[in-house]
Amino acid sequence: MGQFKKIIADILGFIVVFLFKKSGLEKFDNHVLSIYFHNPSPILFTGIVHFLSVNKFRFISENELLILKSMRQKIDERMVFISFDDGWKGNLKLLPTIEKYQIPISIFVPVKPVVTGNYWWEYAPYIVKEFDEITSVEDLKLMRNSQRIAYLNKVVSKHELKRSAIDLSDLQFLHQHSLITIGSHTYHHPISVKCTEEELAFEYSDSKKTLEAWLSTEIKSFAYPNGDYDDRDLEFLKENNYKMAFTTNPLVENDLQSIYEIPRISINTKGGKYENISRILGLWHQYIQPVHQRFKTDRKKVSICVIDQYS
Ligand SMILES: [Zn+2]
Repeated sequence: MGQFKKIIADILGFIVVFLFKKSGLEKFDNHVLSIYFHNPSPILFTGIVHFLSVNKFRFISENELLILKSMRQKIDERMVFISFDDGWKGNLKLLPTIEKYQIPISIFVPVKPVVTGNYWWEYAPYIVKEFDEITSVEDLKLMRNSQRIAYLNKVVSKHELKRSAIDLSDLQFLHQHSLITIGSHTYHHPISVKCTEEELAFEYSDSKKTLEAWLSTEIKSFAYPNGDYDDRDLEFLKENNYKMAFTTNPLVENDLQSIYEIPRISINTKGGKYENISRILGLWHQYIQPVHQRFKTDRKKVSICVIDQYS
């Protein structure tokens, strides 16, 4: 069923891209496109960057983006900034494409998984299985940081998982690559709005310090785990001298936005090439989403009617 849905979504994506590509691309004539991946397959990643390259996007680095934003330079060509969250081991397989298309990328890495090999949410299924009060990973995201850690500590030692994250030698190898910049993604990848002041201070300062010690370089950029942040985060970024930070907010790049709230469009790792391209161009939300929403509402109405007949 998942595969079937993916194919249908990709066909719909292909149709809207085919019909409305021109208008979808127009908005990037004066705004920088900013997209981010997690752990895409080389086929999906290559498909998307090939589309961007054919449609005359120039791939820019975080440094170039920072200069563009600080100088408030006028944009007179299509540009795209590409980043990756979490530092997945699978990202290493994308290097041939990154080199072929000469794409400068940033990878936002949380420190702890580099050491342990895994992300905390990989243990969520075991927590759900063991504790009746937890029904999904979302329950864990909604609780206090210390409470979530207490649950994790109860299961982590019982399950040995295959490494998903890059290790330190991968990280150092990636950092040496001329096209790759490493940024911070906190220390433990917590949900920042659920952290205490003390916990947050550690996440911002120690992730930067550790990455800088490991890589002998200055860490300038940051991406918010899970896209969550509030005023405290903005203060900690300033205090720790980060130069820029990326959200998971898909709004089109706006020159007036803060350097600590740079928008990014999420690429769905499980989606197909054209579904993702139609989302990048805003066509999915413009044409497919409203129909989908309407269809869902209609179905709801039908089921309510059915219930009414019997009540
Ligand atoms: Zn993340």
